[in-house]
Amino acid sequence: NALTAHPLCLLADMSRQFPKVTLSEAEEETQLLAEKVYASALKEEDNKDALSMFTVPEDCPIGLQQAKEHELLKELAEQQSEETSKRKKSLKMIRSQSMSLQIPVNADWTRSLAATPFLSPSSTCSSVQENCPDYQRVTISGDYCAGITVEDYEQAAKSLFKALLIREKYSKLAYHRFCRTAAQFLRRAEAMRWSEEDEVLPDICPCPSNGEDPYSMDNLPENLNYELKMKDGIVNVYDNEDALEKNCPHDLPYPDLETFAIDLISKTKGSCHCTYCHRRLNFLSSKFYLHEMLNEMAELKELKSVPHRDFYNVRKVSGQFVSVDTHIHAAACMSQKHLLTFIQKTYKSDADRVVLEKGGQKMTLKQVFRNLNKDPYDLTVDSLDVHAGRQTFHRFDKFNSKYNPVGASELREIFLKTDNLINGEYFAHIIKEVAHDLEESKYQHAEPRLSIYGRSPEEWHNLSKWFIHHKLHSPNMRWIIQVPRIYDIFKLKKLVPNFAKMLENIFLPLFEATVNPQKHKECHVFLKYVSGFDSVDDESKHSDHMFSFRSPKPEQWTADNNPPYSYYIFHMYANIMVLNNLRKERGLNTFQFRPHCGEAGSITHLVSAFLTTDNISHGLNLKKSPVLQYLYYLAQVPIAMSPLSNNSLFLEYSKNPLREFLHKGLCVSLSTDDPMQFHYTKEPLMEEYAIAAQLWKLSTCDVCEIARNSVLQSGLSHQEKQHFLGVNYLKDGPEGNDIRRTNVAQIRMAYRHETLCNELSFIVDAVKSEAMNSQNE
Ligand SMILES: [Zn+2]
Repeated sequence: NALTAHPLCLLADMSRQFPKVTLSEAEEETQLLAEKVYASALKEEDNKDALSMFTVPEDCPIGLQQAKEHELLKELAEQQSEETSKRKKSLKMIRSQSMSLQIPVNADWTRSLAATPFLSPSSTCSSVQENCPDYQRVTISGDYCAGITVEDYEQAAKSLFKALLIREKYSKLAYHRFCRTAAQFLRRAEAMRWSEEDEVLPDICPCPSNGEDPYSMDNLPENLNYELKMKDGIVNVYDNEDALEKNCPHDLPYPDLETFAIDLISKTKGSCHCTYCHRRLNFLSSKFYLHEMLNEMAELKELKSVPHRDFYNVRKVSGQFVSVDTHIHAAACMSQKHLLTFIQKTYKSDADRVVLEKGGQKMTLKQVFRNLNKDPYDLTVDSLDVHAGRQTFHRFDKFNSKYNPVGASELREIFLKTDNLINGEYFAHIIKEVAHDLEESKYQHAEPRLSIYGRSPEEWHNLSKWFIHHKLHSPNMRWIIQVPRIYDIFKLKKLVPNFAKMLENIFLPLFEATVNPQKHKECHVFLKYVSGFDSVDDESKHSDHMFSFRSPKPEQWTADNNPPYSYYIFHMYANIMVLNNLRKERGLNTFQFRPHCGEAGSITHLVSAFLTTDNISHGLNLKKSPVLQYLYYLAQVPIAMSPLSNNSLFLEYSKNPLREFLHKGLCVSLSTDDPMQFHYTKEPLMEEYAIAAQLWKLSTCDVCEIARNSVLQSGLSHQEKQHFLGVNYLKDGPEGNDIRRTNVAQIRMAYRHETLCNELSFIVDAVKSEAMNSQNE
């Protein structure tokens, strides 16, 4: 891979550049393969062949039989090869070495870890020792333990290694979190030392302390007088007009579509090793089953010894330990009952207030209801008709219309919009009531999504003004901006000439507010409480464009059709990355990218998200691809899952993979998505936890693990995370856990950590053994 820098800025400091990759001829074959996969995203019917490398023929007995026969032949061939038996031997040696390092013989977990410089470079083991009790470990011994032929194992490991490296690169450049344990193992494979200083972490504003004005506009940073210009759909930053003319942008990483597409290709290449990943995932599942059988009581005992904790009552437990609703839409964050009461209350006081303009005519609340032929006092939860039911399953269109109370868009406009005739006053009031309930409950937080559409550059100004005018900050809420993927609609209505204009409307105002906060005061203040971006819409909608590095640049995207998912994701990521680097330079907070992904549609969405996101919402389709699922596990990419929402839209509750993901060790959290549509009680997040715990018979430790994941994944600040999880939360394993705060047993933490280390060591060992072999040759 050739690395080339910006031609005009060769002398500048290159510390944070986006390494440009060009396609070599040798890779053309992979490229064709990747294109086949992406083409298959276009049409669901004939994607069987192309997607077969992502999936295992689990439900097809003939396919399984064939696969087994094929494997047997390979095993036999390998037995006869002298070369492979040599490699097998060396692998066996390497494996037994790393196994002995991982599994403490003398049952002293921490001492052996401290003896492994790579695992825990700065461990303060004396304090940990008392934290981590002994427990019964599950180990496999003999052979090199991968369970497949040497060649398949080595190739699979190499591809997974490469995929992890690519995610690490994309995460670091965007100030997204990358799993520390995975980073440590990657360095080990490269024979380098991991150090804490190399770690790149997001910057999130701490919550204003008591007595501090959250909306203060004093002491704003000064104007940098930078010039901004959108180029290939990405905002470029220039120090001054001269630099702009000379096309010499400020030293920031500017990603390009071509490199991204090629990175995607090399990741797709890594997807041919399904059998290995499938086996490892099955192993993880079985291992957890054994772990639970052997240690369930020990975990419970540990929790019981923590004072003042009630662990039988799940509700109380998740009420006591902080949980964050990691995926919730602001326009549906209240219960139906709450909305109904609010509408009736408002009617009582505001019946004669002008609240709506329709067809040039101003209407009072009374007139609106008369037009709808409804009496607000006769309204019931049922007639409000905002709840999703059987009729919305697999019908996203019907679901979307459920956002309209009594099926009338007028009521949605009046009560659930930020930018209307009454300046979003009612919507702000409802949200404040929801925030108040959260503050009362004390231990629940939420990250509601507000929309920015990209149809006009005014949107940010209006949204910020709404936020500050109505004083919407709450210590229990962080805000996420959702961008609906509806370019085609704006194009049809002639609101934007091309896709680049939509991106400009979304991102340029953010750059302007970052360069000159004094001119964009409201936006600057509002952005302190925005923790990230989301990309939303029905993923099962197909685009008729195939994503590749030959895709037109956003300026050239003048067609009426909607760009595909990956195209949206890349351009959002690219702008967030540049923006984060600019903001970091100024000492301002950075943003996470947390799109909806893998709820439906092509599994290529999950490939794009693996590179570009901090964490995702839904992830259901990981179920279909062992390779991606295993990668999401190895990199510990957080997934906010909403089984109740899925149950009404895409997947029956009993078939939801959350429990399976959790047990294997994927970093999953529980979230509500749309309480107005899916939940019945005043505490929708508790409802979500309670139903999951009951239906799946989750243990207290399971539930608390989910709650802990939700805090880790959230956009809460470093200080808040320290407060809720323990001061060392950035450290992986029991060292990073404060059981008094999280109620997650140290045994569980140790099990998860050791298991992840074991899986990662497989990859490192294969890469190391290959390096050794090539040295010997
Ligand atoms: Zn959602």
